[in-house]
Amino acid sequence: MIELGHLAIEVTRNCNMYCAHCLRGDPENAAASIDLLDRLFSQVSHVEHLLLTGGEPSMRSDILHSLVERAKAWGCTIGYFFVATNAKQYHAGFVDALDELYGYCRQPHRCGLSISIDQFHEKADQKALQEYRSLPYYTKTLEKGRLKPYKIVAEGRAQHNGLGNHTFSPKEFLYCYRCSGDRLQVSDTVYINALGDVLLDADLSYERQRKYSIGNLEQTDLFGLLTQRLFVCGSCHTGNIYTLRYQADAGIVDQTAYTQTLYFQNAARAFGAMQSMGRNIYHIPMNAAPEDIPDDLIIREKEVFKENDLDFLEGKRFHYETASGKKLGTVEIILRQIVPEDRDD
Ligand code: SF4
Repeated sequence: MIELGHLAIEVTRNCNMYCAHCLRGDPENAAASIDLLDRLFSQVSHVEHLLLTGGEPSMRSDILHSLVERAKAWGCTIGYFFVATNAKQYHAGFVDALDELYGYCRQPHRCGLSISIDQFHEKADQKALQEYRSLPYYTKTLEKGRLKPYKIVAEGRAQHNGLGNHTFSPKEFLYCYRCSGDRLQVSDTVYINALGDVLLDADLSYERQRKYSIGNLEQTDLFGLLTQRLFVCGSCHTGNIYTLRYQADAGIVDQTAYTQTLYFQNAARAFGAMQSMGRNIYHIPMNAAPEDIPDDLIIREKEVFKENDLDFLEGKRFHYETASGKKLGTVEIILRQIVPEDRDD
């Protein structure tokens, strides 16, 4: 059986808006089927954090109802959910389905429904705003008003329109997992799209999803797909220690230079933590108040190579600058493998 820490399900690829910054790309006529939900929930016994994504999930309350019904039928428990809507229209069925899911969640206080409000989304409907904001799981998370360019992922239509200044290299492995007998626990994100493709990344356009899918649930079972992607470090031996050092110039994280070192005994956890740090760079780029962050901030990622450093495993350097070329500083993340001196192998 599989327990998932973060599962994203693409409810539908259809949408009633056409935002210029949409990372998915143009809408497609595809939605999660009951068969897909059955294949999924027959193998997964628990989902801690369920992300319902799209397209526009509120357009398919029927699928959301089925999702709750199939999860219950297979005995798959759910911790909490998060879903975002564009609130272009009020859908009573959407609220009914979410209420049902909310009632089924083990940690309802952590559930969230947010409304995407920024300069790219069309104006939300007044009734939808009023009704959705009155729900017990409503959260303001995505009501930004205005999105800064560096927050936009240059995927899908955003890339086509020249918006956003970063993309992610799609993840190839699962780093945070435990296997015991027939039980597999995965804490990294697993993404199931409306076509049944399984991905290890949620921030990809429909087009790139086709390229980076690790398999499809119609052809292979989820356990088989995930176990082929468990990260194992070929050069790692028990007893080693891994250090992950994060070093930022003054003004990026703090007013003075900032350094943090983390220690791991497990290689997969260390590599996984490095990946997360790299991604979070785009969420918390500077210590300044959001309005002080330059509108034209660009963060460029470069690999670091240290050939003569025996402990060095992997490194990344992030250059913070403005579009006009003003250098603001760098953040460096270096992963090292420390071999205990008294080991004789
Ligand atoms: S950003 Fe959301 S609301 Fe806008 S087109 Fe894409 S899926 Fe639809």
